[in-house]
Amino acid sequence: MTDRNDDLFSAAREVIPGGVNSPVRAYGSVGGTPRFLASASGATVTDAAGNEYVDLVASWGPALLGHAQPEVVAAVQEAATRGLSFGAPTEGEVELAALIADRVRVGEARPVERVRLVSTGTEATMTAIRLARGATGRDLLVKFSGHYHGHSDGLLAAAGSGVATLALPGSAGVPAPIAAQTLVIDYNDPDALAAVFAEHGERIAAVIVEAAAANMGVVPPLPGFNRLLADTVHAHGALLILDEVLTGFRVHPAGFWGLQAEAGEEYLPDIITFGKVVGGGMPLAALGGRADVMDLLAPLGPVYQAGTLSGNPLSVAAGLATLRLATPEVYATVDAAAARVSRALDEALTDAGVTHAVAHAGNLFSASFRATAPRTYAEAQDQESFRYAAFFHAMREQGVALPPSVFEAWFLTAAHGEEELQRIEAALPIAARAAAS
Ligand code: PLP
Repeated sequence: MTDRNDDLFSAAREVIPGGVNSPVRAYGSVGGTPRFLASASGATVTDAAGNEYVDLVASWGPALLGHAQPEVVAAVQEAATRGLSFGAPTEGEVELAALIADRVRVGEARPVERVRLVSTGTEATMTAIRLARGATGRDLLVKFSGHYHGHSDGLLAAAGSGVATLALPGSAGVPAPIAAQTLVIDYNDPDALAAVFAEHGERIAAVIVEAAAANMGVVPPLPGFNRLLADTVHAHGALLILDEVLTGFRVHPAGFWGLQAEAGEEYLPDIITFGKVVGGGMPLAALGGRADVMDLLAPLGPVYQAGTLSGNPLSVAAGLATLRLATPEVYATVDAAAARVSRALDEALTDAGVTHAVAHAGNLFSASFRATAPRTYAEAQDQESFRYAAFFHAMREQGVALPPSVFEAWFLTAAHGEEELQRIEAALPIAARAAAS
């Protein structure tokens, strides 16, 4: 029997490649028909056939406060009455940039002195890399296998997220000389880091790293690894780009960097990229960093970056409202909900006899179907990932929407209340048994 989702998927495939505007939405790794969403509110989403699900995707991260949070929606509506886009500076941009810079601090440490607003995480990382190259006069970039930083040419080599899901080594259409500027090494591997700097140290402009990897499933940095990265790049005159597009303002008011700094792992990235939560569900992202580096951006400096919709007033309104509402209580609520769901997930898989490991990075977590939590991309891929499809569909049948790939993090929001958490807890044992068979 088909429903409205099937009809829409058929129609979509006639006009949109694969029927989707971002590959992971096509359910390639779990099979079946993607749910076409009609609306979302709080902790739930409703599909085109009228089915409601408790949502653990949160728009892939932005919905920290829950979907359609009334004050955020009101802020966007109010901004819309004053004009949709100006292509000129606005007061709101100044407020948002100042808020970002102010929030990303722990004690005296304050890595964000200047902020440039862009529209997507891809733009933020792309610009950060150009800036690092402009600042150092060097070409090479080091990235980690399984880390995803968006879809710009130089960053798809051994990337996570949709690239991991589709098992593509990179992408067609990236010229070999561009791919050759990116050196890919294993994550959490100090020897690989030392080796790449020993061989290419004088040509490396920057290392880009997810503050905690969450696009090959959640794979946190080993203790001390991010500090070692900062020490190594700085010893060689290169820059550290900390990608907090996913983790920024989600795991802590000062991002994963803040979480680590508070726990005593102190290091200073030169550029940090933000996205997702910072735009509150609207297209907005940012890069921030040391003033002397950031001031190399045009119009002050020689590194060009621009955008018709950069600092869009509706996006800025959503971002400002979201960050202002993201109080310590919000983080405590999300952390507690994540701890409860991840514990229930762990217990359900254990009770069903499914070999698994649940890994955490603050309130982000995911399960992998292997005995120990992966530390590298190779380990993340070495699991019984086929079990996730049965697990995913069983959860969906119980009215819980999970990310449609084992390589994605699960996202809780401040809107997940007792009722939604109980619905998830009731569904997990059923899904775990489906994964076991
Ligand atoms: N960096 C990280 C760590 C991400 O998780 C993502 C997206 O998931 C990006 C960059 C790219 O952001 P966008 O999808 O907004 O281009």
